[in-house]
Amino acid sequence: MHEDTVERYPAYIGDHTLATEQTLPALEASTGRLLARISRCGAREVDQAVQAAATAQTAWGRTSYEHRALLLNRLADALEQAAPRLARLDAQDVGRRVAETAVDYQIAVAQYRYFAAAIITHEDFGRPIDDGYLLAKRTPLGVVGQIIPWNVPAIMVALKVAPAVAAGNAIVLKPDENASLSTLEFAKIATGIFPPGVINVVTGLGEEAGAALCAHPRVAKLAFTGSPEVGRLIGQAGARRLVPVSLELGGKSPNIVYPDIDDIDAVVDNALFAALYCNGQSCLAGTRLFLHADIYGAFMEKLVQAAQRLRIGDPLDETVHLSCLINKQQGERVLDYIRIGRDEGAKQLAGGSRVKVGGHEHGYFIEPTILEASNAMRVAQEEIFGPVLSVIRWSDVDTMIAEANDVPYGLASGIYTSNLKHALETADRLQAGNVWINRYFNLSGGSPFGGMKESGIGREHCRETLHMYSQLKAITLQNAVPAAWFAR
Ligand code: NAD
Repeated sequence: MHEDTVERYPAYIGDHTLATEQTLPALEASTGRLLARISRCGAREVDQAVQAAATAQTAWGRTSYEHRALLLNRLADALEQAAPRLARLDAQDVGRRVAETAVDYQIAVAQYRYFAAAIITHEDFGRPIDDGYLLAKRTPLGVVGQIIPWNVPAIMVALKVAPAVAAGNAIVLKPDENASLSTLEFAKIATGIFPPGVINVVTGLGEEAGAALCAHPRVAKLAFTGSPEVGRLIGQAGARRLVPVSLELGGKSPNIVYPDIDDIDAVVDNALFAALYCNGQSCLAGTRLFLHADIYGAFMEKLVQAAQRLRIGDPLDETVHLSCLINKQQGERVLDYIRIGRDEGAKQLAGGSRVKVGGHEHGYFIEPTILEASNAMRVAQEEIFGPVLSVIRWSDVDTMIAEANDVPYGLASGIYTSNLKHALETADRLQAGNVWINRYFNLSGGSPFGGMKESGIGREHCRETLHMYSQLKAITLQNAVPAAWFAR
């Protein structure tokens, strides 16, 4: 598309849109084609958005739970309508296959409906006290600054926006500069449903718009999803201003296979899906497969064959299993890790290379890569964020669990066994916010989601999240002023 005709997306601030003079390009991940330009907001635009949010929040925070639920449900309906179009946009912008981005919208829509139901059924605590009444009520925090990454835009937006506005806050959301388009389309929909200023979206670079949002004196809470490096900066910004911070960070999740599994083929399929969903660009990815020695050979043979059968291609082709990574930087990073793995002695059993897809030469399509590794290797310790699975052999349960826990992260984990005792004992001992037994990525509505250790602070996707976005206020009512209180 020619520069002059390319669409320019503004930011959404209060009751208006704002297009900055400086812009950033939004490129199609697989072709490098210019899809649109987004606004490059800085401190000035962020300040306007925060002021708009602060103005709107006072009234929004006093609306009834029923009204908030009504608007959240309207948003869910509108997003459901727009989902096919937005799923295609995400597939182009991020490079993920459209079959997957379509599911993102189902998950996102369910989030708005979940929090509509959660807020409408929320009951503040009240009880009589001697000659009076105590009311402990949840009140909003105010303006919440939210910063998200590029990998699953629709889900990231929903996880942040739904609970925050349900709890009565106004938000300023900054999507990732590499994948802002569907969030701006979301903003167009959401600002037509919510009162002006409740939902604001500013785009731009992390160190400009993101940093300005974190430093703004009127922001009462920061919520972030992204890398641990930036998470630390967000934590420091929150500490400087003494505002609460919730963080959803990286992962290096173990997926544990016991020798007593009933159906090897089904577990092979699960293990590949766990590692390769989102082309491996998922914080939840099950990237360390702990495979028991008794079934190692048979399982590995099937795993390699299944990985080699997966189809790689155009993100808009509904039939492919894998597509391309977000950009060259991410692609080169993944290829570097594969080299690092081989250099440190990991045996490459499948994949390892970039493949060219006709008409999409710009894209970084990387074969599903299987490395026979040990847990101490960098490929088993560090988050790669690409289609790379490290397989680790185990035979002793205690050693395996110690290794499974021996990473800085603690986000997710999987266990495959037909023995309930093994499953529950292992689940109990794993340091992970999510333990999935016999099915990976099993996130049903309301199931808490978040990490232990360096994977983060806080839980999303559940009732508890409303607590992250509100604070308790105790109102104590006495029927009359006591006659003698101080000078008794
Ligand atoms: P990133 O941390 O580089 O960027 C995330 C966001 O932070 C972007 O919007 C970016 O603009 C912004 N940012 C960057 N520097 C900033 C600064 N100085 N101040 C304020 N904001 C700043 O992360 P990424 O590379 O885009 O995403 C990948 C990471 O996200 C991985 O580590 C992955 O595991 C993690 N992630 C975690 C979850 C989860 O829920 N736990 C979900 C998805 C991704």
